[in-house]
Amino acid sequence: MTSHTEQSAVTVLGLGPMGRALAGAFLDAGLRTTVWNRTPGKDRELVERGAVGALSPEEAVAASSLTVICVVNYDAVDAIVRRDAVTGALEGRTVVNLTADTPDRARDAAAWAAEHGIGYLDGAIMTPTMTIGTPAGVFLHSGPEELYRRHRPVLDALSGTHTHLGADIGRAAAYDIALLDVFWTAMAGYAHAMAVARAEGVTARELAPFAKGIAEILPPLFEQAAEEVDSGRFSGEVNPITSAASSMAHIVHASEARGIDAGVMRAAEGMARRAIGRGDGTDGFFQITEILNPR
Ligand code: NDP
Repeated sequence: MTSHTEQSAVTVLGLGPMGRALAGAFLDAGLRTTVWNRTPGKDRELVERGAVGALSPEEAVAASSLTVICVVNYDAVDAIVRRDAVTGALEGRTVVNLTADTPDRARDAAAWAAEHGIGYLDGAIMTPTMTIGTPAGVFLHSGPEELYRRHRPVLDALSGTHTHLGADIGRAAAYDIALLDVFWTAMAGYAHAMAVARAEGVTARELAPFAKGIAEILPPLFEQAAEEVDSGRFSGEVNPITSAASSMAHIVHASEARGIDAGVMRAAEGMARRAIGRGDGTDGFFQITEILNPR
């Protein structure tokens, strides 16, 4: 296969909202784009725009030297590719798996690919569908550097920022899990905050401008956390754990007084109390990282 073909054709397996966005961006960039989805019909709009709709995953992967997979999880990936016809058609080609799952599943997928002579890169998409094909998209990749370099021109058709995190195939998934941990705990916290506020007669609309102010406090705290967690030294000068635990207790009491579950905050307060119990109450809040995962 010539490098021209390598850089001008791509296959996308999985046409959920994200797979459709990826395939659409490849089409917009002028690549010959072959698509397949388990449930037929989801390729209609893409085919109207010029995509080739394959009748089977084996037909789809045979059309390009690079296949991008983006489905709900790695069980779905396995259901598609771990069949003789598809595995055989992928031999000598490369898979970029942009499906979200765990680092261990990424390592397992890489072992399967190596066993079958398939090039394998694992990746994660950190931004929503509307960012795909725009400079706002954020893509993380891990796996063999040479393979990444070779297929980077096709990945660049998606626009956005692409970062290769290293040869350890589990690294993109590790970042993904950690970053989604930030996202979902923040989302759960905000849903809880709106429930507590409503119980006190404060609407979500009234709360929103002040909530945005709280969010703006966080980026400098992330910088401070990076220093503290990596060095193992936690400054509690400005906000010691004793003070954090007291603030959390107010949230627990106010919630439960209105019959609102405070389980998440109780768990956070519990970790702060453990740190205090260990004699670390004058340290900063990020000390609880040591309780969660002692060095
Ligand atoms: P979903 O996570 O809902 O995935 C839908 C896709 O998975 C469809 O193509 C669906 O096929 C396929 N699928 C599910 N189960 C199976 C199975 N057993 N066998 C074969 N295919 C299966 O939607 P998205 O497209 O939004 O997400 C895809 C990936 O992208 C996920 O890992 C998600 O975490 C990630 N992502 C999504 C973002 C977003 O904004 N949507 C943002 C960042 C990452 P069918 O149509 O046949 O059901």
